[in-house]
Amino acid sequence: MRRFFLLVLLVPVLLLSSCVMSNVGAPTAAPFTPDPSGNVAVFTPDTGVTPDGNATVPADGTNSVVTPIDSWTDGTPAPTSQSGSGPLSGLVICVDAGHQETGLTEKEPCAPWGPEANSKVNNTTMKAKATSGTSGVSTKKTEYAVNLEIALKLRDALEAKGATVVMCRIDNSSSISNRERALMANEAKTVLTFNIHCNGSDNSSVSGVEIYVRGTGDNTSEYAERSKTDAALGQKLLDRIIAATGAKKRNVNKSDSYTGINWRDHTTFIVECGFMSNPEEDVLLSTPEYQDKFVSGIVKFVTDDYLNG
Ligand SMILES: [Zn+2]
Repeated sequence: MRRFFLLVLLVPVLLLSSCVMSNVGAPTAAPFTPDPSGNVAVFTPDTGVTPDGNATVPADGTNSVVTPIDSWTDGTPAPTSQSGSGPLSGLVICVDAGHQETGLTEKEPCAPWGPEANSKVNNTTMKAKATSGTSGVSTKKTEYAVNLEIALKLRDALEAKGATVVMCRIDNSSSISNRERALMANEAKTVLTFNIHCNGSDNSSVSGVEIYVRGTGDNTSEYAERSKTDAALGQKLLDRIIAATGAKKRNVNKSDSYTGINWRDHTTFIVECGFMSNPEEDVLLSTPEYQDKFVSGIVKFVTDDYLNG
């Protein structure tokens, strides 16, 4: 059983999409403009299977736009909250807890654009669908478990402010490729994704928070503008996190290397919350109080910088 993307004319969906977006109060990060030809990739779920990434890449290398779905392909409800009341009401935010317990060694294209747009990273660049990440030098905990702890706290905090939150996974046994997580966020008309990770280094003294945003992408001026905007927002996000946690401030990095950024049609931050290879920071990352501080920094960014910046 597989799921496929079909290329069809989809004017009604585009109209519907514009209606949905008009309700979202985000002032920045305009979504991708769909292919002007009207060709969009449509998600057609099968039943009885979880997402497995067996989708075709649009032959023309364009970014895909997919129709919203309201359930996983195995029939369970999608982990998307209803919009509540509060300053983030109407804002759709994706929280993606990086990695999962069981990696998927099968490969998928790292980016939607073709080699003519970017010779270094494109839709012939294949990367593993999912990996299990690093682990803690002190705690011996897995990164995917810590990522989920922080992600669930972030979900709760954003929902408390009224946001609609799309969770790419809510348990550690999920089996979802990085590209599918991205498409899930796109389908839900997400305007911001926080992709939660923890870091690792051969040097145990290295510590701190760093953020990744999109890079040169398909080399269009539109993409460059989005990269610039996302990097500026990323600096504000990093500042809020550092103010909340007191962690060492590292960099905001532009990169084309991440499937989870390249396939998303909206502002996406890979947040590397700290180093599990550092004995002290590893312990902190699993401490509920530190996780709460970390999450409060992210929420402050959304309410004070993203919405009102
Ligand atoms: Zn990671």
